[in-house]
Amino acid sequence: MRLSFSSLDNYQTCPLKYKYKEIDKLKEPKTSVQFFGTTLHKVLEYIHTPGFTSPTLEDALDFFSKHWDESVFKDELENRGAFSQGVDIIQRYYTDNDVFRTNIVALEKRFAVDLPHPTDPEKNHVISGIIDRIDRTENGYEIIDYKTARKMPTQDDVNTNIQLSIYLLAFLKMYPTEKNNLPNIKVSLYFLKHGQKLTATRTQEDLDSVTELFLNVINDIEGEKFEPRLSPLCAWCGYQEICPMWRHKFKDVSIESGDMEKAVAEYIQLKKESTQQRKRFVELQKTIEQYMEQEKIQRVFTPDAIVEKSLRKTYGYDEEKLRTLLEPIDRWKDVLKVDGISLRKVLGTLPSPLRKEAEESKEIKKETSTLVIKKRAKE
Ligand code: SF4
Repeated sequence: MRLSFSSLDNYQTCPLKYKYKEIDKLKEPKTSVQFFGTTLHKVLEYIHTPGFTSPTLEDALDFFSKHWDESVFKDELENRGAFSQGVDIIQRYYTDNDVFRTNIVALEKRFAVDLPHPTDPEKNHVISGIIDRIDRTENGYEIIDYKTARKMPTQDDVNTNIQLSIYLLAFLKMYPTEKNNLPNIKVSLYFLKHGQKLTATRTQEDLDSVTELFLNVINDIEGEKFEPRLSPLCAWCGYQEICPMWRHKFKDVSIESGDMEKAVAEYIQLKKESTQQRKRFVELQKTIEQYMEQEKIQRVFTPDAIVEKSLRKTYGYDEEKLRTLLEPIDRWKDVLKVDGISLRKVLGTLPSPLRKEAEESKEIKKETSTLVIKKRAKE
């Protein structure tokens, strides 16, 4: 299987989004956020592309302005806000970096990394992608990925960032002798909106575990697991209008009969009432039981009813004793049942191949659905 890193990343964000894009080949409408990120990446490539002289700040701003497309923005306000943010980022980039003195060895470098399957060579995969930038440093190299996200991750997130690990694997394929120099190969995320770079390194074990993680993801893709996964990233997903988790939001409900709205309102009301009733039920049960205890009685009589206290006992069996009784007559295995909670505890302690095999034996026995009510934020 050949996959781009961005498609694997999409799968991890939301398997359904992956399906829409990679399998159904539905074109994702370009969002203003994607346009903003792509344009800034182009500006940085322009700034650092080797030439007779490096572009000045004015050249970079001019390039940015020429590549700007107002039409992707919702309105003039959004367009102006994004444009001035772009200008700020470029100005800051020139303040924070000496763009005329860099040690860049590769820009927008395409790569393809082999992911060898541990047991079956038929199942080897290739992951492709593009590394924004590779710099030569004093003792090694630095792999840099530019980000235009508003939110900065923590250092821990960077230490375990999968994208950076894949980029490092790709880098090692290009520079195999650097395998022995891992402590001096830095991987960095450069957050352009903040003008901050977060840097980490990787060990060989980190790289091995990321290979395993990707093999698991590919396994899920091959198993056609394409459930939608809600997350804050849905806000930037171009498939919202067809996604079952969001589609109804875009439907003109005013042309519907309104029956569904009434049903939902009644359902919410009943659910509220039943929660209150359950609470009251528990309170009343307690009051009656306290009265029975105080009066040392087991039944309460009213003109309409008799309430009786009935004790429910839960028994446990002596497992060893039962085993000695049932095993000789070959019935012991009939009473053994896998308990999900204990199994999860045991799985966590198993070595990875064994755990994977056990996980793969999981199958749906019964499916039930429930309706969860969430408060809708005002838009
Ligand atoms: S809107 Fe959210 S849940 Fe739906 S496909 Fe996009 S990312 Fe997935």
